[in-house]
Amino acid sequence: MPQRILQPGEIEALDRTSLPRVRLPQPSSLFADRAARLVQLADGHPIGDYLRFLAGLARAQHKAAATVLTAPIDADTVRRANAHGMPLVQAASQIDPAWQGVLDGLLDAVQADAGLPAALLPVLERLRTLTPEARDQLARRVLAGLLNEPDDLAAAPIVVAALQVVFADQASHLNEAEVPYAEPATVCPVCGTPPVVSVLRIGGREAGLRYLHCGTCCTEWHMVRVKCSHCESTQNVRYQSVQDGGDVVVAETCGTCHTYRKLVNQEKDPLAEPLADDLASLMLDLLMGETDFARATMNPWLPMSEVAAPSP
Ligand SMILES: [Zn+2]
Ligand SMILES: [Zn+2]
Repeated sequence: MPQRILQPGEIEALDRTSLPRVRLPQPSSLFADRAARLVQLADGHPIGDYLRFLAGLARAQHKAAATVLTAPIDADTVRRANAHGMPLVQAASQIDPAWQGVLDGLLDAVQADAGLPAALLPVLERLRTLTPEARDQLARRVLAGLLNEPDDLAAAPIVVAALQVVFADQASHLNEAEVPYAEPATVCPVCGTPPVVSVLRIGGREAGLRYLHCGTCCTEWHMVRVKCSHCESTQNVRYQSVQDGGDVVVAETCGTCHTYRKLVNQEKDPLAEPLADDLASLMLDLLMGETDFARATMNPWLPMSEVAAPSP
C-alpha cells in the first residue's frame, strides 16, 4: 500500500480515543430529527410546501427504519476493504433487495399524505408499476447521478429516501474499527458516495469537528477544516455566506478545484441538520450561481424542487 506523509490534522485524527473518525448513522433518531428540522425550516419558506412534503417522507423513513432487515456487510468484505484502503461497498452495485419493500412502504405513506403535491401522483404511479428489475436499474442510475430523463429526476427523491433507509441500516450495524481509512478521503468510507454537505458538530468528543455527510448511507466522516472536501487542497479554502442570512450555512469555496460545498454549523444553531439545512439554504446556491464556483455534488432531494416550487 502506498505511504504518504500525514498532515498535522491527520496525525491528530489518528488519536482515536480523543476524536471520533466516523459518526455511524443512528436510524432510530436520524430521520425523525430530519423531519422535525424540515418542518421548522418550512415555516414561511419560499419552498415551504416542498420542505413539508420531504418532512412527511422523512417520517415515513423513520417508520420503515424501525422494521427493515438488511443483510450485514460480511467480515470478508470488511477485511478486504481495510487491507486495500477502499470503501466497504460501492453503493450502486450492492443494493440490498430489502429496498424494494421499503420503497412500497414509502409510496403508501406519501400517497396518504394530505399535503402531497398533485404533480407527484404520476411519479408515484410509475414507481408502483415498475418491475423490480426496472426499479433496481433506476436506483443504480440515481446513485450514479445519471439523471437525464425528467421522469427519473422526479422519482429520485423518493428512490433516494428508500435507499437511505437500507444503507443507513447496514451502516448502523458496523463499528468504527471496521470502517476503512479509505482513499480518496473525499468519498464515504462505507458506501463510496461523495458527500452532499459538511457539518460542524457540537457536543462531546465531536465538538468543533467538521464531518462530511453521505447522502446515501448517512455516515459522516471527519475531515480537517483547512482542506477542500472535494480535492483535499489546503491552499485556497474560503467561506461565503448570504448577507443577513445568518452564518448557520456557509459555502466553503476552493480556489484550486473551483467548487463549493456547504458547511452547516451547529455552533450557530444546535438544531441544524445537514440535509435539511442544505435544502433550505437555496438562496446561497443562487448566490453561488453568480460566481465561478460550481456546486461539488447535488443534494439528492433537490432534483424535484422545481416540480414542487411555487410559480413565480
Ligand atoms: Zn455512505
Ligand atoms: Zn478543491
